[in-house]
Amino acid sequence: MVMQTFSRRSFLASMGIGTAVLSNKLSSATSPTPLTATPYTGPKLRVALCGLGNYAGYLAIGLQQSAYCKLTGIVTGKPEKAAKWKKEYNLPDSNVYNYDNFDSIADNKDIDLVYIVLPNSMHKEFVIRAAKAGKHVITEKPMAVSVAEAEEMIKACADANVQLAVGYRLHYEPYNMEMKRLGQEKVFGPVRLIETSLGYKVDDPLQWRLRRAMSGGGPLMNLGIYCLQASRYITGEEPVAVTAQFNPPIHPAMFTEVEASITWQLSFPSGAVCNSTSSYNANIDRLYAAADNGFFELAPAISYGPFKGRSSNGVLQFPDINQQAAQMDGIGQVLLQKKTLPSHISGEEGLRDMRIMEAIYAAANTGRKISLL
Ligand code: NDP
Repeated sequence: MVMQTFSRRSFLASMGIGTAVLSNKLSSATSPTPLTATPYTGPKLRVALCGLGNYAGYLAIGLQQSAYCKLTGIVTGKPEKAAKWKKEYNLPDSNVYNYDNFDSIADNKDIDLVYIVLPNSMHKEFVIRAAKAGKHVITEKPMAVSVAEAEEMIKACADANVQLAVGYRLHYEPYNMEMKRLGQEKVFGPVRLIETSLGYKVDDPLQWRLRRAMSGGGPLMNLGIYCLQASRYITGEEPVAVTAQFNPPIHPAMFTEVEASITWQLSFPSGAVCNSTSSYNANIDRLYAAADNGFFELAPAISYGPFKGRSSNGVLQFPDINQQAAQMDGIGQVLLQKKTLPSHISGEEGLRDMRIMEAIYAAANTGRKISLL
């Protein structure tokens, strides 16, 4: 039987996402420097990327476009990648690390922050090692593979007196921040119902995302976390209860360790409910919120754009931005001013998501409603 394939890459491409098509534009809505203002020319936050895989490539482009951050170091297990990146980004040998000698980054004055872009199961170890080296840390989502790990990471960063952020890029993306505003300011009245789902078909049975020890779980951990985030930032509330169901895999042989698809329902204190599916069975990327006096929605909603949005008042139009550049600008500006990073990208925020995701899995595994109170 020929398996129909639709890889993450082709899914992203179908959404207009690819390194070649990333927008060069920075949003005046999210960039700390409006395009009309004098461009920032002060010192930049110096960033090392740890794990040079697919997403690190997007971050490297974002860092090139960032006014407040620049790439000054790399951490990789592959000497051939080290050589290629060194040349491409003009990095000195002294700023190139592997996973064994990484701790000596403590002595490197050219690096302020380490951005962990490794498989999920490696986030904890490298966040803690970076913190012990005295570097601020961003870790990709999900921040860890368990609540216990997330707690350890937060403590290690606090003990080392460094800041910890989770790579929640959508907090720097204008369409999603408009969804948040419309919801939290109750522009169309109280939000009653949210539907948001994210999925793509996987075609590589060998990828680490299908190995529980490395991913911590299936599409919920990888994709559903965005839907969970959206439901929380639209309502501005924390869910009080969850029910959930696993959906059968289209290709069962690939899903022996993690779920292929999961649907869940969150109840919020105001009475709002959110229904979501995250899936490796289907391609979907949408967000819809129904309020008493209208609706607002995005589709695509979560990928790298360009996004399309509308509300019951008409089409929503915001600049098409490079999300990674906007995210790095936002974080860089705060850290350069030695201020505290916003709570919505903090380790504690990542921990809240981890707790809810563990509850979603518990609900799906037991068939019972799980209280989050
Ligand atoms: P990739 O598999 O493309 O890259 C992971 C990199 O980690 C590898 O290239 C490798 O880098 C390093 N690595 C070290 N040990 C291993 C190992 N045993 N197996 C596999 N890789 C290893 O993953 P992604 O870049 O797609 O994802 C990395 C992280 O970023 C994940 O946590 C993911 O959830 C997150 N992510 C976030 C996105 C967002 O939009 N915010 C989008 C995509 C991913 P090297 O060869 O240099 O050692």
